Amino acid sequence: MSVAFKPLAPGATLGVLGGGQLGRMWVHAAQSMGFQTVVLDPDPQSPAGLVSHQHIQTDYLDPAGLQQMAAACQAATTEFENVPADALAQLAEKIQVAPNAHAVAVAQDRRLEKTHFVKCGVPVAPFAVIASSVELEAVLKQNLGKTNAVSLLPGILKTARMGYDGKGQVRVRNPQELLDAFKQLGGVPCVLEKMLPLKAEYSVIVARGHDGAIVHLPIQHNVHRDGILAMTQVWPGVCDSALEIQAINAAKSIAQELQYIGVLCVEFFVLEDNTLVVNEIAPRPHNSGHYSLDACDVSQFELQLRCMGGLPLTQPRQHSPAVMLNLLGDIWPAIKLGSDPNFSNLPQWGKVLTLPGVHLHLYGKSEARKGRKMGHLTITASTADQARAVAKQAATILGIAAF
Ligand code: ATP
Ligand code: MG
Repeated sequence: MSVAFKPLAPGATLGVLGGGQLGRMWVHAAQSMGFQTVVLDPDPQSPAGLVSHQHIQTDYLDPAGLQQMAAACQAATTEFENVPADALAQLAEKIQVAPNAHAVAVAQDRRLEKTHFVKCGVPVAPFAVIASSVELEAVLKQNLGKTNAVSLLPGILKTARMGYDGKGQVRVRNPQELLDAFKQLGGVPCVLEKMLPLKAEYSVIVARGHDGAIVHLPIQHNVHRDGILAMTQVWPGVCDSALEIQAINAAKSIAQELQYIGVLCVEFFVLEDNTLVVNEIAPRPHNSGHYSLDACDVSQFELQLRCMGGLPLTQPRQHSPAVMLNLLGDIWPAIKLGSDPNFSNLPQWGKVLTLPGVHLHLYGKSEARKGRKMGHLTITASTADQARAVAKQAATILGIAAF
């Protein structure tokens, strides 16, 4: 049995499973509202652990760690969808937990996730589940040149579980590449998705309270590079207006059907023919919602706190057009040179900060690596054109490829 929700007053202690950058920004938001914070993450240097009142340094399923968290906190959440859903289920026996373990379990497994989308009547990319190499070979033999797996090529083979930032994915053009990719991914259960002609990518962040109230952030327009989010743009009209309504309604029904409590991000593809398909969900605040810290009156992290604390939700309002640029380890000069990854040679923050409306967020990671999310910049301005122009200047200074 899960603990029932009640409103928690600031001064209460709130916990988060996972100590990455999302946890860190959640800790900042919690502390600014007067809550005490506990982070559970095994890494002593985790970005959130470094700034939290308390840091429990155990594995996510360590009984003593979970016990300590339940004893210290009145509510808990997760910042990382690969935290075992069972850890949330265990906490939920003692304290209020959002999102619930079931919703996280669905988001953790592409097979359950896609089944859920279909149940909600939201279109998904054509796909096939491939659970074993025997199954893969059978599927290929039976259908060679006809339907099923072969009709999904060229496609993307994605591990059913544990993928993020394009990890656990291989692009495949033909049956041989598919067989090789399945081996390369370790023979674990996978989903093969047809490679779709993408015109754009959108995401919608909804927050659903324990009383069923739902609010959402403005729709986000995302650009990915090498499977990693590179840029998010948000202002009225940045997305197709008919698709915007469809996406917001789809995101709400996906949350509603899961009886979801908390912040949920739904990622969408817009195809060349202007149809919308859902890609995946993240049961937590999301990289594409970081702009809300600087451009909205309520951020995605505050929404998460309100949901888990049983507090009222108000519809967020965006006050400035915004561009968010991810700062990956690639732009740290030492990385470019392939030499020691220390901080003697930093990106030119001084120059970037001379630009108007630039908000710098760094996550406190001590080592820059290629593809590693080190921070982000949000650029706010009074018009979308200005925000884009400043973002371009910032990208040039930092050596981020033009967009
Ligand atoms: P993250 O957790 O960072 O969102 P992920 O590892 O879960 O990423 P996906 O969202 O499945 O990965 O894919 C990453 C990116 O790869 C997508 O945003 C999109 O740009 C591209 N992509 C994924 N699937 C497809 C597809 N079926 N057709 C075309 N492009 C795709
Ligand atoms: Mg994704």
